[in-house]
Amino acid sequence: MPKKNPSITIAIDGYSSTGKSTVAKRLAKELSYVYVDTGAMYRAITLYALENQYIDKKRFDKKSLITSLPNINIKFKFNKELGFAEMFLNDKNVEKDIRSLRVSNYVSPVATVPEIRKYLVKIQREYGKNKAVVMDGRDIGSVVFPDAELKIFLTADPKIRAERRLLELKEKGFKGNFEEIIQNVINRDRIDSTRADSPLKKVADAYEIDVSYINKEEQFQQILDLARERLAR
Ligand code: C5P
Repeated sequence: MPKKNPSITIAIDGYSSTGKSTVAKRLAKELSYVYVDTGAMYRAITLYALENQYIDKKRFDKKSLITSLPNINIKFKFNKELGFAEMFLNDKNVEKDIRSLRVSNYVSPVATVPEIRKYLVKIQREYGKNKAVVMDGRDIGSVVFPDAELKIFLTADPKIRAERRLLELKEKGFKGNFEEIIQNVINRDRIDSTRADSPLKKVADAYEIDVSYINKEEQFQQILDLARERLAR
Protein backbone atom coordinates (compact mmCIF):
# COMPACT_ATOMS: atom_id res chain seq x y z
CA MET A 1 0.00 0.00 0.00
CA PRO A 2 1.47 3.41 -0.88
CA LYS A 3 2.44 5.56 2.05
CA LYS A 4 -0.10 8.24 2.85
CA ASN A 5 2.46 10.84 3.75
CA PRO A 6 5.58 10.24 1.65
CA SER A 7 7.39 13.47 2.54
CA ILE A 8 7.25 15.34 5.79
CA THR A 9 9.12 18.23 7.38
CA ILE A 10 11.07 17.38 10.51
CA ALA A 11 12.03 20.27 12.81
CA ILE A 12 14.61 19.58 15.51
CA ASP A 13 15.05 22.41 18.00
CA GLY A 14 16.63 22.61 21.40
CA TYR A 15 19.41 23.86 23.64
CA SER A 16 23.02 24.01 22.49
CA SER A 17 25.00 20.79 22.44
CA THR A 18 22.06 18.43 22.79
CA GLY A 19 23.18 16.44 19.73
CA LYS A 20 20.68 18.06 17.38
CA SER A 21 22.89 18.07 14.31
CA THR A 22 24.23 14.53 14.84
CA VAL A 23 20.75 13.05 15.10
CA ALA A 24 19.31 15.26 12.33
CA LYS A 25 22.11 14.30 9.94
CA ARG A 26 21.61 10.58 10.60
CA LEU A 27 17.84 10.83 10.30
CA ALA A 28 18.11 12.64 6.97
CA LYS A 29 20.42 9.91 5.68
CA GLU A 30 18.08 7.15 6.87
CA LEU A 31 15.04 8.75 5.20
CA SER A 32 16.95 10.07 2.14
CA TYR A 33 15.92 13.58 3.12
CA VAL A 34 17.82 16.86 2.85
CA TYR A 35 19.55 17.96 6.05
CA VAL A 36 19.91 21.66 6.88
CA ASP A 37 22.04 22.79 9.82
CA THR A 38 20.70 26.31 10.42
CA GLY A 39 23.20 26.91 13.24
CA ALA A 40 25.95 26.69 10.60
CA MET A 41 24.30 29.58 8.75
CA TYR A 42 24.30 31.84 11.85
CA ARG A 43 27.86 30.74 12.54
CA ALA A 44 29.01 31.65 9.01
CA ILE A 45 27.54 35.16 9.34
CA THR A 46 29.31 35.46 12.71
CA LEU A 47 32.62 34.40 11.17
CA TYR A 48 32.16 37.08 8.52
CA ALA A 49 31.44 39.67 11.24
CA LEU A 50 34.59 38.66 13.14
CA GLU A 51 36.77 38.69 10.02
CA ASN A 52 35.55 42.18 9.15
CA GLN A 53 35.89 43.51 12.70
CA TYR A 54 32.18 44.21 13.02
CA ILE A 55 32.12 42.46 16.37
CA ASP A 56 34.56 42.07 19.24
CA LYS A 57 34.49 42.05 23.04
CA LYS A 58 33.63 45.73 23.27
CA ARG A 59 31.38 46.52 20.34
CA PHE A 60 29.00 45.12 17.79
CA ASP A 61 28.48 47.21 14.65
CA LYS A 62 25.10 45.73 13.69
CA LYS A 63 24.46 48.37 11.07
CA SER A 64 27.55 47.51 9.02
CA LEU A 65 26.84 43.80 9.29
CA ILE A 66 23.25 44.30 8.11
CA THR A 67 24.44 46.46 5.20
CA SER A 68 26.93 43.71 4.27
CA LEU A 69 24.33 40.94 4.08
CA PRO A 70 24.04 41.06 0.26
CA ASN A 71 27.83 40.44 0.08
CA ILE A 72 27.69 37.39 2.32
CA ASN A 73 27.29 34.30 0.24
CA ILE A 74 26.63 31.21 2.30
CA LYS A 75 26.22 27.82 0.68
CA PHE A 76 26.16 24.20 1.73
CA LYS A 77 28.13 21.89 -0.54
CA PHE A 78 27.76 18.14 -0.17
CA ASN A 79 31.03 16.35 0.49
CA LYS A 80 30.64 12.79 -0.83
CA GLU A 81 33.62 11.45 1.11
CA LEU A 82 32.39 12.82 4.43
CA GLY A 83 28.75 12.09 3.64
CA PHE A 84 27.49 15.50 4.70
CA ALA A 85 27.28 19.09 3.45
CA GLU A 86 29.97 21.57 4.42
CA MET A 87 29.50 25.29 4.86
CA PHE A 88 31.11 27.68 2.36
CA LEU A 89 31.36 31.40 3.05
CA ASN A 90 32.02 33.43 -0.09
CA ASP A 91 33.30 30.24 -1.77
CA LYS A 92 35.71 29.33 1.04
CA ASN A 93 35.21 26.14 3.00
CA VAL A 94 34.65 27.34 6.58
CA GLU A 95 33.20 24.12 8.00
CA LYS A 96 35.98 23.86 10.58
CA ASP A 97 36.32 27.59 11.37
CA ILE A 98 32.64 28.05 12.21
CA ARG A 99 32.84 25.35 14.92
CA SER A 100 35.55 27.16 16.93
CA LEU A 101 34.85 28.41 20.45
CA ARG A 102 35.56 31.95 19.21
CA VAL A 103 32.61 31.77 16.81
CA SER A 104 30.49 30.04 19.49
CA ASN A 105 31.17 32.96 21.82
CA TYR A 106 29.81 35.56 19.39
CA VAL A 107 27.08 33.72 17.50
CA SER A 108 24.18 34.27 19.92
CA PRO A 109 24.43 38.10 19.93
CA VAL A 110 24.58 38.00 16.11
CA ALA A 111 21.50 35.74 16.05
CA THR A 112 19.46 38.30 18.00
CA VAL A 113 19.45 40.72 15.04
CA PRO A 114 16.01 40.58 13.33
CA GLU A 115 17.35 41.57 9.88
CA ILE A 116 19.84 38.68 9.98
CA ARG A 117 17.14 36.24 11.08
CA LYS A 118 14.82 37.42 8.33
CA TYR A 119 17.56 37.00 5.73
CA LEU A 120 18.37 33.44 6.86
CA VAL A 121 14.77 32.28 7.45
CA LYS A 122 13.98 33.11 3.82
CA ILE A 123 16.83 30.85 2.63
CA GLN A 124 15.80 28.12 5.09
CA ARG A 125 12.19 28.13 3.84
CA GLU A 126 13.48 27.83 0.30
CA TYR A 127 15.55 24.74 1.27
CA GLY A 128 12.46 23.14 2.80
CA LYS A 129 9.82 24.15 0.32
CA ASN A 130 9.45 20.63 -1.10
CA LYS A 131 9.38 18.96 2.34
CA ALA A 132 11.53 15.81 2.75
CA VAL A 133 13.80 17.88 4.96
CA VAL A 134 15.29 17.57 8.43
CA MET A 135 16.22 21.00 9.76
CA ASP A 136 17.79 21.70 13.12
CA GLY A 137 18.09 24.98 15.02
CA ARG A 138 16.26 27.03 17.62
CA ASP A 139 13.18 28.37 15.83
CA ILE A 140 12.42 25.75 13.19
CA GLY A 141 9.18 24.46 14.72
CA SER A 142 8.11 27.89 15.98
CA VAL A 143 8.99 30.24 13.10
CA VAL A 144 10.60 28.63 10.04
CA PHE A 145 8.17 25.71 9.63
CA PRO A 146 5.32 26.09 12.12
CA ASP A 147 3.38 23.46 10.12
CA ALA A 148 6.13 20.81 10.30
CA GLU A 149 4.61 17.34 10.72
CA LEU A 150 7.19 16.36 13.33
CA LYS A 151 8.68 18.76 15.87
CA ILE A 152 11.29 17.63 18.35
CA PHE A 153 12.58 19.68 21.26
CA LEU A 154 15.83 18.48 22.86
CA THR A 155 16.97 19.34 26.36
CA ALA A 156 19.71 18.07 28.69
CA ASP A 157 21.58 18.94 31.85
CA PRO A 158 24.07 21.78 31.00
CA LYS A 159 26.97 19.92 32.68
CA ILE A 160 26.41 16.84 30.55
CA ARG A 161 26.10 18.98 27.44
CA ALA A 162 29.36 20.78 28.21
CA GLU A 163 31.17 17.46 28.75
CA ARG A 164 29.91 16.14 25.41
CA ARG A 165 30.81 19.40 23.68
CA LEU A 166 34.34 19.32 25.11
CA LEU A 167 34.83 15.80 23.80
CA GLU A 168 33.50 16.78 20.38
CA LEU A 169 35.77 19.84 20.16
CA LYS A 170 38.79 17.74 21.13
CA GLU A 171 37.92 15.19 18.47
CA LYS A 172 37.89 18.01 15.92
CA GLY A 173 41.31 19.13 17.07
CA PHE A 174 40.27 22.24 19.02
CA LYS A 175 41.49 23.16 22.45
CA GLY A 176 39.08 24.06 25.21
CA ASN A 177 38.44 23.52 28.88
CA PHE A 178 35.29 22.52 30.72
CA GLU A 179 34.80 25.87 32.49
CA GLU A 180 35.04 27.82 29.26
CA ILE A 181 32.62 25.49 27.51
CA ILE A 182 29.98 25.33 30.20
CA GLN A 183 30.02 29.14 30.33
CA ASN A 184 29.47 29.27 26.59
CA VAL A 185 26.64 26.72 26.74
CA ILE A 186 24.88 28.60 29.58
CA ASN A 187 25.38 32.03 27.98
CA ARG A 188 24.09 30.90 24.62
CA ASP A 189 21.02 29.26 26.19
CA ARG A 190 20.28 32.47 28.06
CA ILE A 191 20.65 34.78 25.05
CA ASP A 192 18.83 32.36 22.71
CA SER A 193 15.87 31.90 25.09
CA THR A 194 15.43 35.53 26.07
CA ARG A 195 15.87 37.38 22.78
CA ALA A 196 12.85 39.29 21.46
CA ASP A 197 12.87 37.84 17.94
CA SER A 198 12.21 34.08 17.64
CA PRO A 199 13.37 33.00 21.10
CA LEU A 200 14.22 29.38 21.72
CA LYS A 201 11.15 27.76 23.26
CA LYS A 202 9.25 24.53 23.13
CA VAL A 203 6.08 24.93 21.11
CA ALA A 204 2.95 23.11 22.26
CA ASP A 205 3.02 20.48 19.51
CA ALA A 206 6.72 19.62 19.90
CA TYR A 207 7.80 16.30 21.37
CA GLU A 208 10.30 16.93 24.16
CA ILE A 209 13.19 14.54 24.74
CA ASP A 210 15.65 14.93 27.61
CA VAL A 211 18.88 13.42 26.32
CA SER A 212 20.88 13.69 29.57
CA TYR A 213 20.82 9.98 30.27
CA ILE A 214 20.23 8.41 26.89
CA ASN A 215 22.90 7.68 24.32
CA LYS A 216 23.06 8.81 20.69
CA GLU A 217 21.62 5.52 19.45
CA GLU A 218 18.56 5.73 21.74
CA GLN A 219 18.06 9.37 20.79
CA PHE A 220 18.15 8.45 17.11
CA GLN A 221 15.78 5.46 17.48
CA GLN A 222 13.20 7.49 19.41
CA ILE A 223 13.11 10.21 16.77
CA LEU A 224 13.14 7.71 13.90
CA ASP A 225 10.13 5.90 15.44
CA LEU A 226 8.27 9.20 15.70
CA ALA A 227 9.12 10.05 12.08
CA ARG A 228 7.93 6.62 10.87
CA GLU A 229 4.71 7.04 12.80
CA ARG A 230 4.12 10.45 11.14
CA LEU A 231 4.98 9.01 7.72
CA ALA A 232 2.35 6.31 8.12
CA ARG A 233 -0.43 8.76 8.97
O1 C5P B 1 23.06 24.89 16.44
P1 C5P B 1 24.29 25.68 16.82
O2 C5P B 1 24.69 25.47 18.24
O3 C5P B 1 25.41 25.52 15.87
O4 C5P B 1 23.80 27.19 16.70
C1 C5P B 1 24.66 28.28 16.99
C2 C5P B 1 23.84 29.48 17.42
O5 C5P B 1 23.11 30.00 16.31
C3 C5P B 1 22.81 29.26 18.51
O6 C5P B 1 23.36 29.33 19.81
C4 C5P B 1 21.84 30.41 18.25
O7 C5P B 1 22.30 31.61 18.81
C5 C5P B 1 21.89 30.56 16.74
N1 C5P B 1 20.79 29.89 16.06
C6 C5P B 1 19.56 30.53 16.02
N2 C5P B 1 18.54 29.99 15.31
C7 C5P B 1 18.69 28.83 14.64
C8 C5P B 1 19.93 28.15 14.69
C9 C5P B 1 20.95 28.69 15.43
O8 C5P B 1 19.39 31.58 16.62
N3 C5P B 1 17.67 28.35 13.93
